[in-house]
Amino acid sequence: MNFSISWLSQYYTKIITLYKKKKLHPIILLQSTYDIGIQKLVYEISTFFLCLKKKKMYYCNKCTSCYLMKLKIHPDFYDIKDKNKKKIGIDLIRNVILKIYTTAQQGNKKILWFSNILNLTHEASNTLLKTCEEPPKNTFFFLYTNNSQHMISTLRSRAIFYNLSVPTEKEGILWLKKKNIKKKISLNLIQTSLRLYNYSPFSANFFLNNVLFSQRIKIINIFKNYYINRKYLILINAFKYINNPDLIFWICFLILDAIKLLSKKKINIQNLDQISFLKKFSKEYSYQILNKMLFSWLKCNFCLCNILGIDKEILIIEQVLYTTILLKKNLEN
Ligand SMILES: [Zn+2]
Repeated sequence: MNFSISWLSQYYTKIITLYKKKKLHPIILLQSTYDIGIQKLVYEISTFFLCLKKKKMYYCNKCTSCYLMKLKIHPDFYDIKDKNKKKIGIDLIRNVILKIYTTAQQGNKKILWFSNILNLTHEASNTLLKTCEEPPKNTFFFLYTNNSQHMISTLRSRAIFYNLSVPTEKEGILWLKKKNIKKKISLNLIQTSLRLYNYSPFSANFFLNNVLFSQRIKIINIFKNYYINRKYLILINAFKYINNPDLIFWICFLILDAIKLLSKKKINIQNLDQISFLKKFSKEYSYQILNKMLFSWLKCNFCLCNILGIDKEILIIEQVLYTTILLKKNLEN
């Protein structure tokens, strides 16, 4: 079966080629800042490793092993997660290591997949490190992180390192168009979703097919009424979405786009589907006021993310009051 993600295919080919030459390092560390499909890459590579009837560079998609991988129940593929909590402790790692020292059940290979190596506790990382120092035969460790600098350095130095960058916008657009072929989503909206989500096609696709999409439309309407029609209390309606971590980012991107338009730097406008509103918005306010607005929302987001137990509603009320004063100042000038 062919590998379908164009921007990752070079890594698929590289790893499979090394594997076939028996030169693949058993500990493979993959890093990418955003979700670009690494889970899928590891799944495809692992299916190839475990396939009983490989065809050149691809797995057969017919044998028992491929079937078990498809059902996500292959006994030699270990997806290391703790179902009950985010952190992965030493006991779970010890149990898995104990299991891999027993014979593989299908095809003689074993694969361990750590979808976020930073979720391991310090003790669990050290236990894994000991195994990685002398890895068992026919066993491959795939480790993923969005920032390898936060791993224990000794574990990092044991692995072969691949830093995977986000695809180009063109690649992202093509992939999203294919994924949403029945929906007939406009190019503007596809580009907007990619730009809002750091060119990660997977995050953009999640956004387009999730409640997030309709929430953004509602937030933008609130925003328009607040900043253009000056219905000051309407911002309180944003309370409903306060638990959505993207809420403040969407607002910040709108303000940032207005600043870009005002300073005639039209490069990389995020909200391409809102150009007419952004033009109006950027004409309405001065550069200084927009900057202050942006800073206040970023500060609000910082408090939300970093102050444990903060009263979110009071924070938003403070934000509404502050921006309302700013808006009135803008009117007076
Ligand atoms: Zn197969």
